[in-house]
Amino acid sequence: MKPNRITFPLIILALGMVVCSPDCRAWGQKGHDVTCAVARKHLKKKARKKIDRVLDGQSIVYWSNWLDNASHTPEYAYTKTWHYKNIDADETYENAVLNPDGDVLTAIQAQIAALKSGTLDKEAEALALKMLVHLMGDLHCPMHMGHKSDRGGNRWQVQFFGNGKNLHGIWDSDILESAHKWTFSEWVEEIDTGGKPEYSEIVKGGPEDWGKETYMLATQIYEQTPVGSKLSYDNVARWAPVIERQLLKGGLRLAAVLNDIYR
Ligand SMILES: [Zn+2]
Repeated sequence: MKPNRITFPLIILALGMVVCSPDCRAWGQKGHDVTCAVARKHLKKKARKKIDRVLDGQSIVYWSNWLDNASHTPEYAYTKTWHYKNIDADETYENAVLNPDGDVLTAIQAQIAALKSGTLDKEAEALALKMLVHLMGDLHCPMHMGHKSDRGGNRWQVQFFGNGKNLHGIWDSDILESAHKWTFSEWVEEIDTGGKPEYSEIVKGGPEDWGKETYMLATQIYEQTPVGSKLSYDNVARWAPVIERQLLKGGLRLAAVLNDIYR
């Protein structure tokens, strides 16, 4: 069919959907906001003060999702692959061939090192901080440790309440949004209910260990969600608590990292 006035915009829209496929997105806006809002709550006074100065009074929640949009602009196109670390089924977390353009773990470690170096000017420090607060959310997003072969679940087709979706998308947003219609503050109120002994266990280790945990979770999800799965209420019930836990862990660990940087 020759494009006419009606089909042409549809073609453009379809092309846009391909180009902007959510490969480098994660959690959706809500998940990143929740992660950063949990972290903000657990910042020590000193860290809060210093971050406040670096971000000119804006909060880490304000910047939580900025990198997902920035990565689609020419200025920050170099960060496009920084949101995930894909690992094929025949690889392990340890021996996976890394993307030469960067991956989430390498990018997190680089931002932490840069922020700790004390050599950044204010603008560079703000940029590293904005990247770090987002990427710590991505590190806890299971399909951001998905297979290279299916582009982190983007080519793993399933049905979600009768609609054709891919595994990546339902883990970024659909399960989370179906589970609770909470604002990010309500999310924090509902999931951040643990005590000190539990939380000090959660923040043990470092980004490498936390990434491995996410990878193990992704492996489990692939096993339990074969291509063509028809997912609905039981799936939301099964996985929502896992997502709640990942958001809490991401937030607590981000706070731990920031408290350590801004001691
Ligand atoms: Zn992202």
